[in-house]
Amino acid sequence: MGSLGPAPTLEACLERIERVDPQAYARTRNHLLGAVTGLSPWITHGMVTLREVAALLHRRHRLEVQHKLVFELGWRAYFRHVWAHRKGGIRASLHPGPLPDSAYASRLPPDIREARCGVPAVDQAIRTLYSTGLLHNHARMWLASYVVHLRRIHWRAGADWMIGHLLDGDLASNHLSWQWVAGTASRKPYLFNAENVARYAPREWWSPASAIDRSYAELETIARGAAPTAPPASPPYAQPAAPPASLPAAPAARPGGIDEPAPASLESTPATTLPLVLEAEAVWVLHPWALRAPAPHPQGKTWTVVGCLPHEAMGQHAWSARRLAWVSEALRNQARHLYRSFDDLADAVQPGRMIGTWAEPHLSPFLGARITGFEERPLFAPVARRCDSFSRWWTVATTNIRTLEELLDST
Ligand SMILES: Cc1cc2nc3c(=O)[nH]c(=O)nc-3n(C[C@H](O)[C@H](O)[C@H](O)COP(=O)(O)OP(=O)(O)OC[C@H]3O[C@@H](n4cnc5c(N)ncnc54)[C@H](O)[C@@H]3O)c2cc1C
Repeated sequence: MGSLGPAPTLEACLERIERVDPQAYARTRNHLLGAVTGLSPWITHGMVTLREVAALLHRRHRLEVQHKLVFELGWRAYFRHVWAHRKGGIRASLHPGPLPDSAYASRLPPDIREARCGVPAVDQAIRTLYSTGLLHNHARMWLASYVVHLRRIHWRAGADWMIGHLLDGDLASNHLSWQWVAGTASRKPYLFNAENVARYAPREWWSPASAIDRSYAELETIARGAAPTAPPASPPYAQPAAPPASLPAAPAARPGGIDEPAPASLESTPATTLPLVLEAEAVWVLHPWALRAPAPHPQGKTWTVVGCLPHEAMGQHAWSARRLAWVSEALRNQARHLYRSFDDLADAVQPGRMIGTWAEPHLSPFLGARITGFEERPLFAPVARRCDSFSRWWTVATTNIRTLEELLDST
């Protein structure tokens, strides 16, 4: 399964937040070796909310709301805004991209799945994805752009594949980012070339004389339907003289490619076997998207905390074995009883007793009548009218707000 990765505990998350250096982040975020936070597994699984991250950052740093890090937290909130408005519609192209949907292949070919497409930056990205479940934002963009625009594969095939390997897979951030790259949720396709890779990635990612070693003008014509010409035999740009150190997680290249890890079987998830009747006065449910402390009970009662790995909601896309193990361990650490569906859980609680959980769009269609979803306190004030661009949403969400402190006070 590759590297052990981030521990599924609140302590590990808080320690990571302590170490965030916002100034270094702003300077180096686009570099694969840059000072990114690495917080996405804990944020995705609701061990902390965006608001809690921002409040903890505010304790140590005085940040403007326009700071790069607050802005990036905004991207996650923006994708959730789009999801709230478009619902399941985010699984289809939001508007036409550079080519009609029918121009793209619907399946990911084996050379991509096996990390042997021959473009070092892309093969490195896939190996890193498989061995860690995580990938730097820039590498995700390169991988998606190569798949969609140079291989002409539909973004949906790429998005469905990638989310099944991510430790931080989030339907809104993942599928809408793929659409942003594809140009079906943005004004133009996102394109990158070998020169861009050489600027931001360690040497083993550099890809001279490969399919991405082209001018942006040529990439643009390919994305809009032209057949690619052969890439140049030697790099037409100056390579940086001093390559940065290697990314620790990047595994070695294998000419014959590597096997794609098989998805986890949900049947292997731990569960309380007996139809145990809980004698609790109120039951709080932890689930894979909300592994954090309960909301206060409206009548001040004490929650008995149980866990649920709701197969009905989790079956929406593939889960890697690493991610399933991560979430299962976090649940086992916090709850004695685990259930595999909300129905099983509701059956185990005496009628009339409240069952609460944090509301979350991944599972809201599956909650059922007995479970009450509590809304978290957001970091950004909800924007009622749908915004079709991040900049529009950001302008509305941060109007008259100057600092992170003011943002925290605004909701
Ligand atoms: C094709 C593609 C697929 C992606 N899929 C996912 C996904 O499934 N889950 C996911 O959490 N992010 C996804 N992202 C967004 C982004 O790449 C990751 O959030 C980020 O790389 C996580 O690393 P980090 O925690 O060090 O981020 P940092 O840069 O340190 O940012 C801190 C936090 O801000 C949020 N954030 C930062 N950048 C973005 C962004 N561009 N979009 C949304 N949120 C952002 C995340 O919650 C992140 O943990 C995707 C991006 C692309 C281009």
